[in-house]
Amino acid sequence: MKINYLRRDLMNLKAYDAEEKSCIYKMDANESPWDLPDSFREILARDLMDGKDFNRYPDSKSTNLRRAIGEHWGVSSDQVIVGAGSDELIQILITGFAGKGEGVAYPTPSFGMYQIFTLIAGATPMPIELGEGYEYDMEAFTSAISKYNPKVLFICNPNNPTGNLMDPDQLKKLINAFPGVVVIDEAYGEFAKASMIEYAIQVPNLVVLRTFSKAFGLAGLRVGYCITSPELASQINRVMPPYNLNTFSQDAAVLALANREQMDIRVKKIIEQRQIMYNALGKIDGLRIYPSQANFLLIKVPRGHLTWQQLLDRGILVRDFSGEPYLRDCLRVTIACEEANRAFISSMYEIFSEG
Ligand code: PMP
Repeated sequence: MKINYLRRDLMNLKAYDAEEKSCIYKMDANESPWDLPDSFREILARDLMDGKDFNRYPDSKSTNLRRAIGEHWGVSSDQVIVGAGSDELIQILITGFAGKGEGVAYPTPSFGMYQIFTLIAGATPMPIELGEGYEYDMEAFTSAISKYNPKVLFICNPNNPTGNLMDPDQLKKLINAFPGVVVIDEAYGEFAKASMIEYAIQVPNLVVLRTFSKAFGLAGLRVGYCITSPELASQINRVMPPYNLNTFSQDAAVLALANREQMDIRVKKIIEQRQIMYNALGKIDGLRIYPSQANFLLIKVPRGHLTWQQLLDRGILVRDFSGEPYLRDCLRVTIACEEANRAFISSMYEIFSEG
């Protein structure tokens, strides 16, 4: 007899499916194309051999890392909270601030975990549609907020998978008008022109989320953080699991921040490559390329899934959104190293010249 133990309201939830396909160029998950430099690895290897008592729990407060992040942004470390990836923080924020019968609003299309964590929390998902070109539609946001009165509002900025930013003045207006908690997910913030971190310390209801997974290239070590007001930080701390960030990841993130110039150089390269890719793809008839402030481009093609397969046949893995309601025929390609980007561009030219 088959017994279902999962909560009844979660029976239809689909597990997050990270595509594991073999390929030559992995351009599907918005990771950094560059691994940690050898100089970092050597320090971490020494740490692994001599430094830590791995039989002991990690520093539950991640003191050094929070201090380093605080110093970097010029805020008190009490306003910094770290998580095992920003995914963990998204879940903590949702479960901490929205319960049964309470709403969590977020743009759609956007990062899928806002909806999934809302459902897991037993709260009510309130997706708000973006405009025709995926721009943030202020009117839609303000009217949805006054109609549905959510407890938490997520803004993904730049938005994944569309790549666009919300205008900072409009965003400030939205934050000021919203009575609940506003979470601005800046997972791709290092690649963008604007950030709300400075604003997060001026207003009581704003949380800005960042990650070491993208620009810093630490996706495999799972480190994310948020910056918020002291009041909100002390409330979030009440719902944090203890020892959530392992010793090794704490140390790696401190090291990455201390060597920030390396990351800045890499980010600059990605931004240059993004422009090259945008211009090159713009010359192919029939494609729509959405301007992006992140490390990826969203592209609408005539036959989405077929193009995805044709790219994979050439060893290139991109993210296929073509079957999703708001993203019909869209593919998302991560800007990678020059060789991969060139391979992607020439494959696209080949595919579309074949008609
Ligand atoms: N937010 C956004 C918008 C993302 O795209 C991602 C990763 N794809 C995350 C959060 C989670 O990142 P991580 O858990 O690796 O920090």
